[in-house]
Amino acid sequence: MTVGIVGAGQLGRMLALAGYPLGLDFLCLDPARDAPAGRVAPLLTGAFTDQRLLAQLARRCEVITFDWENVSVASLKAARRQARTRICPPLAALATGQDRVAEKRLFERLRIPTTRWQAVGSARELQRALRRVGLPGVLKTRRMGYDGKGQALIRSPAAAAHAFAQLGAVPLLYEEFVPFDAEVSIIGARSTGGEMAVYPLCGNVHGQGILRLTCAPAGTRRLQQLAARYLMRVLTHFGYSGILTIEFFVRGSRLIANEMAPRVHNSGHWTIEGACTSQFENHLRAILGLPLGDTRALGHAAMINLIGALPPPAKLLAVPGLHLHDYGKAPRPGRKVGHCTLVEATAARRDARARALIKELAVDVRIP
Ligand code: AMP
Repeated sequence: MTVGIVGAGQLGRMLALAGYPLGLDFLCLDPARDAPAGRVAPLLTGAFTDQRLLAQLARRCEVITFDWENVSVASLKAARRQARTRICPPLAALATGQDRVAEKRLFERLRIPTTRWQAVGSARELQRALRRVGLPGVLKTRRMGYDGKGQALIRSPAAAAHAFAQLGAVPLLYEEFVPFDAEVSIIGARSTGGEMAVYPLCGNVHGQGILRLTCAPAGTRRLQQLAARYLMRVLTHFGYSGILTIEFFVRGSRLIANEMAPRVHNSGHWTIEGACTSQFENHLRAILGLPLGDTRALGHAAMINLIGALPPPAKLLAVPGLHLHDYGKAPRPGRKVGHCTLVEATAARRDARARALIKELAVDVRIP
């Protein structure tokens, strides 16, 4: 059975690597000839909107999935019409995940607490949003924002005008700045048959908008239950199949939804070595209608993103118990080029080892 992946980044690569033991084959589509998944699976090279290549992908694959959310929904719909191939997760979830305003509306509709927000299409609307939502706040592009790109922290009306001049060529969203205690994400799967499984909560630390560190399991039992309930509402709403992620700010005992991703997620990389079944395997099981795997943690995991350039692999591989994932990408400032994971028997030991490693690797992150 062949699974098509639109996008051949590191997520596509880890999907393929998880699927080979299950006897699956893969075919990817990506504009970049040197895309990470292209090293482990056949690659069609071309634009995500290339209808000829999408049709080829649809003809050659039993099911199509995607490894990032900014692929064209219209192009995928057209490919599905031509070849009648299933596309998972559902395109309605993909469309929602592409637009911050659609996400906010969904959260509100499903009674999932989110930030106070306002859509912004002009300088005048921004001034109105500042009055309604208040200061400080964050101005974000509605679409194509990731890893902190396309957003600005606003502390004054003058700063808002300046940010609007920089970002305002496209539709925006202005939301309150949340002085959060912590950031967490919840990751879970729903299979085509309706079975659901949720992973332990992930505790995430960002630096300059980019995820640097994830520790899991994280949070209290109550937060875990609350996050799982919210996640299952979204899974059920879409009749979802595949892995879904929701990121939250934690304030006291409250969870405030920031955004959702209808795909496997960077904050779930720890599940490769730190859970009974990885998020990648469970995504494949879910979209193929196979029984979902056990989502329990095997210990206390820390996942550190390697950003910009990979440290010398020998240095990392000398660390006992460390698992290295090199995505095979050329170095570039701010680019995720790999990650490494530690799994320990206790949270205290995990934290101590993660701290030491972060210091040694000079990772730009403040550990809570
Ligand atoms: P996002 O692209 O929305 O996931 O934002 C990236 C990161 O920026 C988040 O994980 C937070 O660390 C920070 N951030 C984004 N929006 C807010 C907000 N409204 N309040 C506080 N921090 C935010």
